[in-house]
Amino acid sequence: MKIKLSKIHFDKNSINFKLWAYFVLFAALLLSLLWLLQIFFLNTYYQEMKITETNRVANVIAEKYGKEDFVDTIRSLSVSNDMYIQIETDDAILFSPGNESGRMPIYMYLPEMSTVRKMLFQDNRESASVIIPEKNPGHGDKKTLAYASFLKKSPDEKVILYIFSPLFPVDSTVGILRNQLMYVTIISLGIAFSLSLYLSNRISKPIRSITKSAERLAAGEYGVPFSGGHYTEIIQLADTLNMTSVELKKTDALRKDLIANVSHDLRTPLTMVKSYAEMIRDISGDNPEKRNAHLEVIIEEADRLNLLVTDMLDLSRLQTHVTPLEKREFDLSEAARSIVNALGIYESREGYRFILESPEEKVLVKADENQIKRVISNLLNNAVKYCGEDKEVHVKILDEGGAVRCEVSDHGMGIAPDELDQIWERYYKASTNHVREVKSTGLGLSIVKEIILLHGGRYGVESEKGVGSTFYFELDKA
Ligand code: ADP
Repeated sequence: MKIKLSKIHFDKNSINFKLWAYFVLFAALLLSLLWLLQIFFLNTYYQEMKITETNRVANVIAEKYGKEDFVDTIRSLSVSNDMYIQIETDDAILFSPGNESGRMPIYMYLPEMSTVRKMLFQDNRESASVIIPEKNPGHGDKKTLAYASFLKKSPDEKVILYIFSPLFPVDSTVGILRNQLMYVTIISLGIAFSLSLYLSNRISKPIRSITKSAERLAAGEYGVPFSGGHYTEIIQLADTLNMTSVELKKTDALRKDLIANVSHDLRTPLTMVKSYAEMIRDISGDNPEKRNAHLEVIIEEADRLNLLVTDMLDLSRLQTHVTPLEKREFDLSEAARSIVNALGIYESREGYRFILESPEEKVLVKADENQIKRVISNLLNNAVKYCGEDKEVHVKILDEGGAVRCEVSDHGMGIAPDELDQIWERYYKASTNHVREVKSTGLGLSIVKEIILLHGGRYGVESEKGVGSTFYFELDKA
């Protein structure tokens, strides 16, 4: 809603407006500088330039005075700079433009000459320069820059250099410039306007779309995609939000899954716990034998609950990929041995026999060791639960070239062929297998399946009713 409002109303703080304003301001500043320099200071600038040029020419001439190429230098300087140069002593003219072809005689500058000469002598200066307006009204406001200096200044001989440069009126130039500047102004303001509009749109559009997606995310629509447009920073922001969105989706799935499972599977053991506790309160409280039996049930149900909750959490985590695999190299035989050793209690107390066969050398796999141990442990626990009278469980590690295979076999009751596929599904418990004291959640094989799939491995079972079962999984070698 907010976005829509800001779209309709004029928002002074929006990227669109700010960018536009800065661009236009920048263009306006540049243009006013240009106008100021070109239109108002052009005349002053032109005169200054002429004065500098005249001084430079005078210096060159002073340097060349008395040298061989003196006259040639003056000639070329006067032509290339459009200057009238005269050099005279008290009684002779050493150089005069009147003698040069194509140049006007110097007498047209006689008034200027006497003015600047007067200045030179008056203050006893080395050089003098002055800008003199044209007397002749027919020439408009054409001016002349008159310059005079001593090339030689001794009591018996003085050599004076005169330079006259016409200063042309800049009015017509200013007129042309003004015209051009007008176009430049309109064009640059137009460019600033459209460029800022284009840029700000390119920046603000993805931000607006990100905001929209974020609003959907906030409303509980987990997994909404964020797109970042063209700029690295915004693309990075969108990527981060995408990750957040995906993670939120996973967590949400985990949460829903858990709630479903909790309400479905925990209810039975909880009911048991409740009813036995009530029985103790109402009936068996004073009868130690009965009470203990009932308490035993409660403890057993609590254990079952514990197991169920742990398995449920693990399976949900695996399925939603919440916990990433921590893959590293390890020896599968060693891992199997450690699990078998951990089950030693069954061997000593209940007469089970675990027979581990593995190759001499290490069989290395690159996998999450804890998870793979979990797989072996689940398979072994099942074998213990469902094994036959002989209480014998075989664990075999086989090196098969590119892959490593782990087999867990028992001589138990086996599984019916039509149930072989279903036992890997969660909460599935084979119909005929049920032994009363077996603690079962129906989740063990689902966990096995998820872990092996996450590792890109293969799993399966071979079983014959009444003969036994061999569960196996294969992983690629490291
Ligand atoms: P549970 O907790 O019930 O053992 P599992 O997912 O580990 O859950 O196993 C699913 C079902 O597969 C079991 O209920 C059992 O019927 C069957 N099963 C698993 N392992 C064996 C085995 N070694 N021998 C016979 N049946 C088995």
